[in-house]
Amino acid sequence: MELAKRDDVPVELTWDLSLIYPTEEAMLADAQKMKELSLSMEASYKGNLTDAATITHCLDDYQEVYRLITLTANYCDLAVSVDYYNSANQTRNDRINSLISEIFSRLTFIESELSEQSEDVLNEAMQQSDTNRYYLAEILRNKAHRLSPETERAISALSQTFSAPYQIYNMAKLADMKFDSFTVNGKEYPLGYSLFEDNYEYEKDTDIRRSAFSAFSAKIRQYENVTAAAYNAQLQTEKTMATLRGFDSVIDSLLFPQQVSRELYNRQIDLITTRLAPHMRKYARLLKKIHNLDHMTFADLKIAVDPEYDPSVTIEESKQYIEKGLAILGDDYVSMIQEAYKKRWVDFAQNQGKSTGGFCASPYGKGSFILLSWNNRMADVFTLAHELGHAGHFRLCNGAQAILDTEVSSYFVEAPSTMNELLMAHYLLKTNPDKRFRRWVLSCMISNTYYHNFVTHLMEAAYQREVYKLIDAGDSVQAETLSSIMKETLQKFWGDDVEISDDAALTWMRQPHYYMGLYSYTYSAGLTVATQVCKRIETEGQTAVDDWKKVLTAGSTKTPEELAKMAGVDISTDAPLLDTIETIGSIIDEICELTEELGC
Ligand SMILES: [Zn+2]
Repeated sequence: MELAKRDDVPVELTWDLSLIYPTEEAMLADAQKMKELSLSMEASYKGNLTDAATITHCLDDYQEVYRLITLTANYCDLAVSVDYYNSANQTRNDRINSLISEIFSRLTFIESELSEQSEDVLNEAMQQSDTNRYYLAEILRNKAHRLSPETERAISALSQTFSAPYQIYNMAKLADMKFDSFTVNGKEYPLGYSLFEDNYEYEKDTDIRRSAFSAFSAKIRQYENVTAAAYNAQLQTEKTMATLRGFDSVIDSLLFPQQVSRELYNRQIDLITTRLAPHMRKYARLLKKIHNLDHMTFADLKIAVDPEYDPSVTIEESKQYIEKGLAILGDDYVSMIQEAYKKRWVDFAQNQGKSTGGFCASPYGKGSFILLSWNNRMADVFTLAHELGHAGHFRLCNGAQAILDTEVSSYFVEAPSTMNELLMAHYLLKTNPDKRFRRWVLSCMISNTYYHNFVTHLMEAAYQREVYKLIDAGDSVQAETLSSIMKETLQKFWGDDVEISDDAALTWMRQPHYYMGLYSYTYSAGLTVATQVCKRIETEGQTAVDDWKKVLTAGSTKTPEELAKMAGVDISTDAPLLDTIETIGSIIDEICELTEELGC
């Protein structure tokens, strides 16, 4: 089965970008508008940001420019993400991005001049406008790390170049890597990046699954040096920027915008790698036993506990599941779900050159755009519920907050999404008392939700922390270094229960997260909050739901710790994380017990 070309995909499986702009001309008109506005702002405000009233006017204009930038950038970038082979879209995206760099560079005077104002003037400006208050508070917090206006302007003008490593990574992965088919017992199987990650990793036939992994690894290994070079360029840039801005460590500089302490970051990685590992090894042993494997390898970790049971789910059926599963969040939430299907917020299609995995973009005031590849599996229902969690979050916060107050810390951003996965699972558990069904849902919670966020991404985070230690010590990294750090990280976690081969060590090549700062660890942080709030919803009902919605509405007007506290979770201690790890352990224990009872 060869993947379709983008042009051959049925339109109902694609998202509708005309919800952002009806035509390309309309987008270009906004591009022109934002350019002109930035020029007039430069003319009126540059050198004049010395009193509260002028600051307020300037920031009100800035909100408008920022809104237009968000819309034009999303419109162009989303079109590229579904078809990396379309060079016209690439060119258009590059053009918009360089215009945006130009505008941001022109407007760097705002932050520079604001940073030079006295606290009194900034406080007065904060009093004048609710919608500028948190932005100004951030200026104050950032003051010590700001460079001279000329330097800030030069850095900003280079912003597109700073994203080159990520672009190179994506080009190698999504456009250049062409996979040959592989053969098992005389039969030929097609291979591709998403075909491997969405299908073969879950394949129940061990020969096919392991052969696919070897063929996949052999292909990506051909690109290990270019990938390592791109990544090293990213790391060295981050280190240089950290040093310039007065941070001793890249880690501190990347945690600063998240408003998260080093302690919280380290705790997440340390506790999961030590306390969760025994539970996950038990899960690996269970998979080995159920599937009669001679030995357990990295390529076997994603097989389902009960693959025969996995019901196939159509897109239409997914709507029923999700509406019912998330109904607990209220009628307004359900009507958003209906709107998402009806107005084509979701790109379900599988086609050549499409970005892998899933994401949700919510340009201010324009609904949401969800990318995924639909495979008719229950796992896809969970992915969609997850992405709709982001959509639901930003619908509330974009609706209630000014655009500058919607930059939610990445520490919290995966809480609403993983929360929806848990709500879906809890809903399914209530629909059917059958033991095999129960075991299947529980194992979905492990293999999808917790494995993905607490293991896959956390392993990336643990690996990433080791990489930054080298970078902080003044070293650089090559493919060999990265493979050996990844191998050691995985071996430490899985111990003797899972064989970690040289192919498994190449896992560092697979995630785009390394180009997004410290993002990987935040998945488990968000899911920790979600697990605790989900428990509250189970026991307290409506009050907990109401608290949760207030949290979603708060946007970035609160720090992650404050948001968690509003939801009734105190993340200043390790209790929520330890309790979540125990919850995962007890789910695995129950899967083992049910397996004993079912006798298979
Ligand atoms: Zn997410």
